[in-house]
Amino acid sequence: MRDTIFELSRALRTKKISSVELCELYLKAIERENPKLNAYVHVFYDSARRDAERADRLIKEGKGGLLTGIPVAVKDNICTEGELTTCCSAILKGYKPPYSATVWERLRAQGAVMLGKTNMDEFAMGSSSESSVYGAPKNPIDATRVTGGSSGGSAAAVCARLAPYALGSDTGGSVRQPAAFCGTVGFKPTYGEVSRYGLIAYASSLDQIGPLTSSVKDAAAVFSAIRGKDERDMTSFDGEKERELDPDVKGLKIGIAEQFFEGLEGGVKACVESAAKRYESAGAELIKVSLPSLGYTLPVYYIIACAEASSNLGRYDGIRYGFRAENYSSVEDMIIKTRTLGFGKEVQRRIMLGTYVLSSGYFDAYYKKACALRERIKSEFSQIFQKCDVLLTPSSPITAFPAGLERLNPAEAYLADIYTVSANAAGLPAISVPCGSDGGLPVGLQIMGERFSDYKVLSAAYFAQVDGICPDYGVKGGVEL
Ligand code: GLN
Repeated sequence: MRDTIFELSRALRTKKISSVELCELYLKAIERENPKLNAYVHVFYDSARRDAERADRLIKEGKGGLLTGIPVAVKDNICTEGELTTCCSAILKGYKPPYSATVWERLRAQGAVMLGKTNMDEFAMGSSSESSVYGAPKNPIDATRVTGGSSGGSAAAVCARLAPYALGSDTGGSVRQPAAFCGTVGFKPTYGEVSRYGLIAYASSLDQIGPLTSSVKDAAAVFSAIRGKDERDMTSFDGEKERELDPDVKGLKIGIAEQFFEGLEGGVKACVESAAKRYESAGAELIKVSLPSLGYTLPVYYIIACAEASSNLGRYDGIRYGFRAENYSSVEDMIIKTRTLGFGKEVQRRIMLGTYVLSSGYFDAYYKKACALRERIKSEFSQIFQKCDVLLTPSSPITAFPAGLERLNPAEAYLADIYTVSANAAGLPAISVPCGSDGGLPVGLQIMGERFSDYKVLSAAYFAQVDGICPDYGVKGGVEL
């Protein structure tokens, strides 16, 4: 039996295994493997067992659905009532939210079993998960390499089979890039398809929750379970009607934008090009398109993300949440000391950058310009999607790099996001699926689509899986079923 959601669900329904037994298998595997991998930062033994007992009751009463009784790992920035949610930051040490995010409410209502919270870059700011206050997770495929980030723990947990699926968040690539680095599937839905209520905000106009899974069908199933309008997030909406995935790509118009391949070398380029050929052989049409503004997407992203972060993170003042510094002489002194000690270096850097680009005198030169360029990026994408159904690109120009953030300066580290940030800037759905290896490390293929075309993007990705483009990286350990 494979540990996909569909297979596990069948096993639960046919009583081959109970949810309580399944949950114990995962908890045991986590106990055994997590000290090496650091994929989970909090494991919820008691509540997971309670969730599993409840799921078994639902199944017995015939009220179970696809996700009933299936364990899930949740990124540490998604609020879960009464359970630790710390954004992997010292400033939220010990924080247990009084409410749950809509995504978790929806999964819980369907009888999901939460195993614990996964490691991430502090406040989701980063591409390697190394800025976590708990230390970095390790890539299960090669422990000397990073998992990618910021949802690195979620990707590692799925890759190492310490959870059948996980939730992550993607502001500039944080679901897709770690998925690519760890050889899993990672899907970022259209902005607004999934409610952000209860997701600890990083950059609100870019943030989106998405699943990390071991199959495209699983990603679609989780997406269908968590999506849809939520009164508590005014940017959320009901998108197109749920559709079955169709792996037939005959006649599918696939855009290839040259800018995504400029300067790209070696194995990543070869894997993506050979995947494109497989689509073509199956009847898809490859169309040359252009995204002239690709070179601006990183500066646009980092200006807007930092600006929004500097405002969103203003709420951590030592009064309302988590950590408060000691030995202060006034309220102002307390706030300064709390934020200085509570936030890590990268978070402080971004708050300062964001405050700078929003300050009078610089607002027009940076923030306003970035917003104008964002509109241009959106319109270039609209033109592309008048000519083609989906766009095919690498997920990242590189494979999982060696651990040790000190060697990268911030500007170099930000380059790792060059292919992913544009989907967030334009609010588009985008998925990363494994498409080969380079030097033994996974390579991700990214498929993007027009806003609201989530099922089209998922279907196009499903072809890669059905056609055998997605390799099995053969990671040992985890749950043996
Ligand atoms: N790596 C990007 C950043 O550091 C994206 C992070 C994310 O998507 N949360 O901002």
